[in-house]
Amino acid sequence: MPAERKIYGEDHRIFRDAVARFMEREVVPYHDQWEKDGVVSREVWLKAGEAGLLLSTAAEEYGGAGADFGYCAIVIEESTRVNASGLGFQLHSDIVAPYIETYGSEELKKAWLPPMAKGEIIGGICMTEPGTGSDLQGVKTRAVRDGNDWVITGQKTFITNGQNADLFIVVAKTDPSKGAKGTSLILVEADRAGFKRGRNLEKLGLKAQDTSELFFEDVRVPVSNILGEENQGFRYLMEQLPRERLLSAIRAVASAEVAIEWTVKYTKEREAFGQKIFEFQNTKFKLAECHAQAQMGRVYVDNCIELLREGKLDLEAAAIAKLWCSEMQGRVLDECLQLHGGYGYMWEYPITKAYADARINRIYAGTSEVMKLIISRYL
Ligand SMILES: Cc1cc2nc3c(=O)[nH]c(=O)nc-3n(C[C@H](O)[C@H](O)[C@H](O)COP(=O)(O)OP(=O)(O)OC[C@H]3O[C@@H](n4cnc5c(N)ncnc54)[C@H](O)[C@@H]3O)c2cc1C
Repeated sequence: MPAERKIYGEDHRIFRDAVARFMEREVVPYHDQWEKDGVVSREVWLKAGEAGLLLSTAAEEYGGAGADFGYCAIVIEESTRVNASGLGFQLHSDIVAPYIETYGSEELKKAWLPPMAKGEIIGGICMTEPGTGSDLQGVKTRAVRDGNDWVITGQKTFITNGQNADLFIVVAKTDPSKGAKGTSLILVEADRAGFKRGRNLEKLGLKAQDTSELFFEDVRVPVSNILGEENQGFRYLMEQLPRERLLSAIRAVASAEVAIEWTVKYTKEREAFGQKIFEFQNTKFKLAECHAQAQMGRVYVDNCIELLREGKLDLEAAAIAKLWCSEMQGRVLDECLQLHGGYGYMWEYPITKAYADARINRIYAGTSEVMKLIISRYL
C-alpha cells in the first residue's frame, strides 16, 4: 500500500484527474514523434495553457491560478506517470515564472506572466555556460550598461526549452570585480538582435526536450528588463534554488513509484523456469526494497511540499530531498530494468526510456556532489 498522502485534498484530486486526462489525450499520442523531432509542439503549450496546467501558483491578476504548490507537484507527478519527459512545463511555470513574479517590476509581470500562463510565451533560464555549471560564480556572460540599455555578450549551454522559448532569464555579470556579488538576472526576448539559438543537443534521455546552446552577441535590452536589483542575482538564485531542487525530487519519487508498478505487472505476466518471474524470492525482495525506498522518499518529499507551501523550505531540506530521491530513483530504476530482462533494454518499453531519462536527475538543478556540499555546511 502506498503511504497515505495528507498534503492533498478533494480539489487536488479533481485537478489530478484533469491533468491525467490531459496527458492521455494531448501528450501520450504525440510523444514518440516529439522524441524524433527533439522538441515538443507549440500547440501542446497552448493546450496546456487553456487547460490551466501552466503557472498554477502565479497570482490571478497575472493570469495564474493563485493555487498552492501542490498543484505544481501534481503536474509533475502525472506527466512522470506517463513518461512524458519532453514537456518543459515545470521549468517554465515553476522556475522561470516565480523569478519574474518575485523579483520583476510590475511592468514586467504584467507583460510576461499572462501570456506565459496561456502558453503563448514560453520561458527558459540561462545559468549554465560551456565553462561553468556547478560553480555559478564562474559565469562569464557580461551585461554592460550603455545609456538605457544592457548590452549582453556571452554563451550559454544545456538550456531547457532552448528552441521553443521566447523569453529567457539570463544570468550575467554586471560587475565582474565583485565575483558572485556582481551577478544580475536580466530578461532577454528571443527576437532581440544578436540573440542566436545554437544546436538542439542530442542527449542520452529526455529526447523530446529541446536542450540547446544559446549565443548572445551584443544583445541590447532595456535596463528595465532586469529582475530585481542590480548585482543581487546570486542571492535570488540561492532563494529560488530550493524550489527547483524540490521539483527534481518530486519527479524522482513519482518516477520510482511508476517504475515499480510497471515492473510488478511485467513480472506477474512473464514466466521463466515454470513460474512467474514475480514468484522468485529475489524478485519479491528486490521490489519490496524498491517500494520501501520510494515510500520513504515520498514521505520526505511531501513534507518538503508542505514546507514550500508555508514558505519554509530551506536550502538544506531541498538539497537532502534532491540528493536522496534522485539517487534512490537511479537505484530503483536500475533494479526495475534488470527485472525486465532484455526487454528492459528495448526502447519500446517504458522502463527503458524512464531509465535513460532518470540519469540527468542526479546532475541538473545541482549535482549530487553539490547537494552533499550544501548539506555538509549544516553539520
Ligand atoms: C538535460 C539538461 C537540461 C539542463 N537544463 C538547464 C537549464 O535549463 N538552464 C541551465 O542554466 N542549466 C541547465 N542544465 C545544466 C545543469 O544544471 C548543469 O549541467 C549542472 O549544474 C552541472 O554543471 P556542469 O555540467 O558544468 O558540470 P561540472 O560543474 O563541470 O561538474 C562536473 C563534475 O564535477 C563535480 N563537481 C563540481 N564541483 C564540485 C565540488 N565542489 N566538489 C565535488 N565535486 C564537484 C560535479 O558534481 C560533477 O560530477 C541542464 C543540463 C542538462 C544535461
